[in-house]
Order: sequence, then C-alpha cells, then structure tokens
Amino acid sequence: MSTKSLKVIVIGGGAAGFFGAIAACEQGSAVTLLETARKSLAKVRISGGGRCNVTHACFDPNQLILNYPRGGNALRGAFSRFQPQNTIAWFAQQGVKLKTESDGRMFPISDNSETIVQCLMQRAESLGVKLWTGIGVRSVSVISDTQEFSVELQSGQILTCDRLLLATGSHPSGYEMARSLGHEIIKPLPSLFTFNVPDPRLEGLAGVSSELVQIKLVDGAKKPDPNLEQRGAVLITHWGLSGPAILKLSAWGARVLGDQSYKANILINWLPELKTEEVRSQLTTAKTELAQRLISGNCLFKQVPKRLWQSLLGAIAIDSSLRWADLSKKQLNQLVIELTEGKYAITGKGVFKEEFVTCGGINLKEVEFKTMESRKCPNLYLAGEILDIDGVTGGFNFQSAWTTGWLAGQAMGNQWGKNLGGNLA
Ligand SMILES: Cc1cc2nc3c(=O)[nH]c(=O)nc-3n(C[C@H](O)[C@H](O)[C@H](O)COP(=O)(O)OP(=O)(O)OC[C@H]3O[C@@H](n4cnc5c(N)ncnc54)[C@H](O)[C@@H]3O)c2cc1C
Repeated sequence: MSTKSLKVIVIGGGAAGFFGAIAACEQGSAVTLLETARKSLAKVRISGGGRCNVTHACFDPNQLILNYPRGGNALRGAFSRFQPQNTIAWFAQQGVKLKTESDGRMFPISDNSETIVQCLMQRAESLGVKLWTGIGVRSVSVISDTQEFSVELQSGQILTCDRLLLATGSHPSGYEMARSLGHEIIKPLPSLFTFNVPDPRLEGLAGVSSELVQIKLVDGAKKPDPNLEQRGAVLITHWGLSGPAILKLSAWGARVLGDQSYKANILINWLPELKTEEVRSQLTTAKTELAQRLISGNCLFKQVPKRLWQSLLGAIAIDSSLRWADLSKKQLNQLVIELTEGKYAITGKGVFKEEFVTCGGINLKEVEFKTMESRKCPNLYLAGEILDIDGVTGGFNFQSAWTTGWLAGQAMGNQWGKNLGGNLA
C-alpha cells in the first residue's frame, strides 16, 4: 500500500466542490480545486437572498427525501451517512452556528452568506487545498493504460490526477465532460420558477397574497400525480403568480411544464380548507342573513383578500351594487367555481431571483451513491447539481450538494494504492 497521498482534482468551486475538496484533503489527499470564475462560491454568496439557506431542520432521511422532485430515492442512503444534522455539526466545528426559522429553513446566525463563504474558504486553505480560480477546464480524458485522468485547462495546460471530482453545477461544460467519460445526461431544464398568468382576474392585484391556497396543474395525464397539486402561500405578481406553493408546483411539474413549453392550465382553490358544499352553503346562508348588504363589500371568507374577492366577482359579472338577496342561483354556482376551482392559463415561465435550480443532469443509475463514484468510469466522482437531483426551496439543494460532496471527498481520499503520476504543482 502506498504511503504517498493521492492526487485529486476537483472541477468546480461551488458548495459541492468545496465540500468534496475539504473532505478529500482531510483524508490526506493532495487536492487542487479548479474554478473557472475569478471568485469561487458565487451561488453561495447570492443564495437565500444574501443570507444563505444552508440546510433544513429535517432530520429523518425518509422525510427529507420527500423534498426532492428528482433524486430523492437515490439520496435516501446518502442522507443516512451525511444529513442536515451532520451539516449543522460540520459548520459548528468550524465555529459557525446555524439557526432555524419557523418554517424549518436554517441560516447562519449572522444572516450573512459571507459567513459560509469565509468558513469554507478558511477550512480549505487551512488544510492546504490548492485553490486555482480563473482557471476553466476545457476537457477531461482517461490516460490509456493508466488509471489517471488528463485535465486540459482553457489555457491548453494539461494536469493529471488519480481521482477526479466533477462538481460543475449546471454548467454545460460539466455535462460535456461527463458525457465524454461515458455518462448519459438527462435533459437539463429549469426548476423553481414563477408562472406567467396574464388573466384579468389577477390584473391590478400585484402584491396581494393569500396564506393557504391549493393549486393543481391540469396535465392531462391518465394517472393523476399527487405532487402536481400543492398547497401553501401564493403571491400575485405583475406578471402572474409566485410564492411557495407556486415554486413547489414548478419544481414537481418542471418536466411536464418544460415538455409543454410552459403552457398549461391550473385550477386554483382559494379556500382549500373548506369542502365545496361548505362554500356553497355559506353563500346560500348569506343570501338570507346578509340579504340587504352589498356582496362586493362583504366577503364571507377571511382567507380571500378583499381586492381578490372583488376581482373574482367582476369576472362573473356580479355588479358592485348587487346585494346578497339578489344573487341568482347561476351566479352563486359560478362564484363557488371561482372560489374553489378557478381555471387559469399559464402562458410562460417567470424568473424567480431568490432561488433557481436545474433539474436533469447525470443519470443517477450511473452513480454509486455510497461513494459518489461513477459506475461508468472508475476514479471519477460526481457531486452537486451536475447530478439529476433537485430539491424544492428551503435549503434542500445545498444539503444535497453538502452530502454528495462530502461522500465523494471521503471516498476519493480514502482509496489508496493507485499509480501516483501527475504533474500538479
Ligand atoms: C439565486 C440563487 C439562490 C439560491 N439559494 C439557495 C438557498 O438559499 N439554499 C439552497 O439550498 N439552494 C439555493 N440555491 C441553489 C444552490 O445554489 C445550488 O443548488 C448549489 O449552489 C449547487 O452547488 P454545486 O456546487 O453543485 O454547483 P455550483 O454552485 O453551480 O458550482 C459549480 C461551480 O463550477 C464552476 N465551473 C463550471 N464549469 C467549470 C469548468 N469547466 N471549469 C472550472 N469550473 C467550472 C462554476 O463556475 C461554479 O462555481 C440557489 C440558487 C440560486 C441561483
């Protein structure tokens, strides 16, 4: 068994690349981290609105995986080895404490993503990770008759290494390198986006929100997918709809919506906690109990914002001077439909600036999730968003980057006895 350290190259200085590099170095490997941008950890810096939502306070792997529209099953075992509790402990060991918000999202107590950036940079530096920024990788290949990799930089310079970690996020060059080493790339598509819904019912209501709304994507599939129906807060925007329920639906529906060029119908239930018959019965009761009151000025449901109520009434031609007593049976039925299953057309995908991920990437069947080693190319490791894994908002995307990066780093650094050629500085 060799006593010399393995030479490891990590391509990509994001969350996954840093965790992989640090873990491999902790195992005794000589690690070089190559980052094409001038500054590494760009996404960590801008994440969580500048606060970095590091992880989520969900400690049961079986529950945790439910937050991944793609990759959940593959991550189950990985989370039993490194999960949010380990993330919290890891950062605490470096002196960074995380706090939990009421919805389970976890942030550094500084509320500043720079804390996380500095923590990762300092840990990497103290271990001796060689961080080369402004160094893009053009291509990678296996050197024939050896188990080494040749890594060609954009400058034309060639480096070699014993172990290679691809952690290039959703950058096309990373997919290309993975492909060249034998991997299949599941078509990358955006996830976590808002909906463009140019509908008169929403016009002039930008900023209006409701805490609990149910949105169902009408996708025409024979077998209904329960994940294409989501509940949560919804925010009306200038161009359509946003908010947690919409983002969740966009993640679970990312493929369906992508395949339909982001044109689809949704059904909105503004009163998901009431049965349709309860809504009908309350409206019927109002006809006698509030008989002489104006419908427009007397919304029965506190969950429905007043301006939205008035807009929904307008959509079914209920005049602002109409009194409850004069509401016809037909109008009452129309109102029930508007409140519980109003149909809206999505015409496109908006851009959500807070968080955005790519679904698709390396086919997970081609990866050994105990070690994150490629099943196609020995000594190649894969971590982070380059994989066909994506989570909903809440810290789940970083958690999968920490987990897969850490597992890859551990495994890369742990394996000894390989040919130690190479020309790294
Ligand atoms: C605005 C925004 C906010 C977000 N907020 C959160 C949040 O709060 N919580 C959360 O969990 N998730 C959040 N996410 C998602 C999260 O940032 C990503 O899931 C995560 O960064 C993925 O990490 P990664 O290391 O796999 O990829 P990346 O962070 O994308 O890192 C990949 C790195 O590889 C480099 N690279 C690519 N190609 C090459 C090459 N050929 N040579 C050398 N280097 C290369 C890139 O420059 C990049 O630095 C957010 C995303 C965005 C865009």
